Amino acid sequence: MGCDRRIYRRVIQYSQDGLILLNTEIIKIDEHNIDDKAKEAIGRAGRIIRDGGLVAFPTETVYGLGGDALNPESSRKIYAAKGRPSDNPLIVHVAEVKDVESIVKEVPDEAYRLFDAFWPGPLTIIMNKNEKVPYETTGGLDTVAIRMPSNLIARELIRQSGGYIAAPSANTSGRPSPTLARYCVEDLSGKIEMILDGGQVGIGLESTIVDLTSGEPMILRPGYITREMLSSVLGAVAVDRTIIDSSSPAKPKAPGMKYRHYAPRGVLTIVQGPSEDVVRYINAKSVEASNEGKRVGVIATDLTKERYKAEVVKSVGSREDESMIAHELFKVLREFDDENIDVMFSESFDDSGIGQAIMNRLLKAAGHNVVAL
Ligand code: AMP
Ligand code: MG
Repeated sequence: MGCDRRIYRRVIQYSQDGLILLNTEIIKIDEHNIDDKAKEAIGRAGRIIRDGGLVAFPTETVYGLGGDALNPESSRKIYAAKGRPSDNPLIVHVAEVKDVESIVKEVPDEAYRLFDAFWPGPLTIIMNKNEKVPYETTGGLDTVAIRMPSNLIARELIRQSGGYIAAPSANTSGRPSPTLARYCVEDLSGKIEMILDGGQVGIGLESTIVDLTSGEPMILRPGYITREMLSSVLGAVAVDRTIIDSSSPAKPKAPGMKYRHYAPRGVLTIVQGPSEDVVRYINAKSVEASNEGKRVGVIATDLTKERYKAEVVKSVGSREDESMIAHELFKVLREFDDENIDVMFSESFDDSGIGQAIMNRLLKAAGHNVVAL
């Protein structure tokens, strides 16, 4: 069966933050079996978005919280549901290249090359917007971030919604991005009309963001599409230095990158250094914290996981398989929350290739709390 439906909450009343609690309908859909029943459900989701409502849906990166990108009221609702600051612009999701052409001033040549190489996929491109895109969606900017996801549920939903879905990650602002529908339920049930549950997402980290509006293309957020991959298509590609250098006084060019982000509820410390020293340090600190009555979690790798003495030890995979680490990271942070972990330690990772995105998210999750041995 391609689709299965349940309603999460039936109460309609005001919640503490003044939002009306809605019936949030949850529908399971198999991305690889979008049958008539699933199509009908996605059609209803599309109608909700066209009518100004919100739907959480899977993409290949993380779950998105979608509303009509060309309707200012929908964008306001997205900010309210997430508790997101309204100067943090939303990414507009499209299903066809021609739909990009009608919301930007012009599509630069570089963009067409990127579409050919990486779309549909985990790459967001910033271009100059035209008057069709409301400032509510772009956080007041004259530029707009656009992506074509490859997830088939997402693409069908975009088509059924009229072509343009504004969608940030479907988490409460500041929490780790959701890689499973149940985390959208945790953060957003009662605040949005529908959640499409497409199972666990494939990539697990948000898209790479590249800016094409100011001279040399520049990466504003690292992701699965690496600088090396972009350079193979565009030639020279710069990286916003605030991504690499956390002590930089400059403001990040992607407004959202300045906020504390991806944070688990407990305190996370990244420990850098030779593997032996890292294991010894984390074990000593774990004992200290346990003696103080705290629950301790460790983010380890396959090779080291047996060596930690903390109460909960989770491996994010083998160091050789960066995609797996990216895939597991947010999930593990959420699991630590589920298990009420107070203090967490993580090994550090190489910061080349996808590692740049992994370390960027990990550093943010840790509030740049790093111990170098
Ligand atoms: P999220 O949708 O939660 O993955 O966050 C979207 C990210 O894209 C945030 O960091 C935004 O600041 C960034 N972004 C969206 N639109 C723009 C834009 N026009 N210029 C720069 N950054 C943007
Ligand atoms: Mg986000």
